[in-house]
Amino acid sequence: MMGVSISVAGASRAFGGVYAVREVGLDVPPGELRAVIGPNGAGKSTLFALIGGQLALDAGTVRLDGARIDRLPAHRRARLGVSVVFQGARIFPRMTALENVMVGAHTATRSGFLTAALRLPAHARSERLIASRARASLDRVGLAQWADRPAESLPLGQQRALQLARALCGRPRLLLLDEPASGLRTGEREHLAALLAELRSEGLTMLLVEHDVGFVMRLADRVTVLDLGRVIAEGSPAEVRADPAVIAAYLGD
Ligand code: ADP
Ligand code: MG
Repeated sequence: MMGVSISVAGASRAFGGVYAVREVGLDVPPGELRAVIGPNGAGKSTLFALIGGQLALDAGTVRLDGARIDRLPAHRRARLGVSVVFQGARIFPRMTALENVMVGAHTATRSGFLTAALRLPAHARSERLIASRARASLDRVGLAQWADRPAESLPLGQQRALQLARALCGRPRLLLLDEPASGLRTGEREHLAALLAELRSEGLTMLLVEHDVGFVMRLADRVTVLDLGRVIAEGSPAEVRADPAVIAAYLGD
């Protein structure tokens, strides 16, 4: 799972004349785990959507391994290996855990989700391949034994793990996780932290937004701090912790 570099420059996006993200720059080399922190409304989720292509930039560029991707629709970025797991469980409740994860593989392949949903005959062989990949992803996040359960029957922590399994099944080269630990119990958090550390050691590039600052500070190589849509600090976890601007804006409370 070789990671890619992600480079955001001069990124701006406004809603109704108010900037959610303003002239943001971010350079993350391959294999880095970058934490993005900041108070509520700082623009973290908007930044992720600008990278994933769910939102369009008003200005600026996004480059993946040096190549511009900011004009590409989200599904094309997904095919290039950009995978965003947004806040809030977006699962298909009636589908099984396995089927939910298989969707992740389909969105990352040319055949796409629609052809899969229509169950075209040519699809059957690759379908088996995808199912085996999906099982491996479920296994990775500790959900192997729940593969055939409807997703809605899983507790929140496992639904979170399911979202992550779905993203991993698409073989991302850049994984963006928006508050993956929120709502998780201590044991589940530890499990997630261990998995993220493992993915990092495999060279996957990751951006991680998380409310629990302690959680990200332990895992991150570097930290970018947003406030009111702007980058107010960037550095190692230790540097950021000691930064007066960060303490004033965010860590002080
Ligand atoms: P964070 O994830 O850091 O909490 P967001 O990126 O969700 O922050 O939001 C940044 C700002 O942009 C907030 O003021 C929010 O109200 C606004 N915003 C985000 N998405 C939209 C949207 N779709 N429409 C209007 N305003 C939005
Ligand atoms: Mg958010």
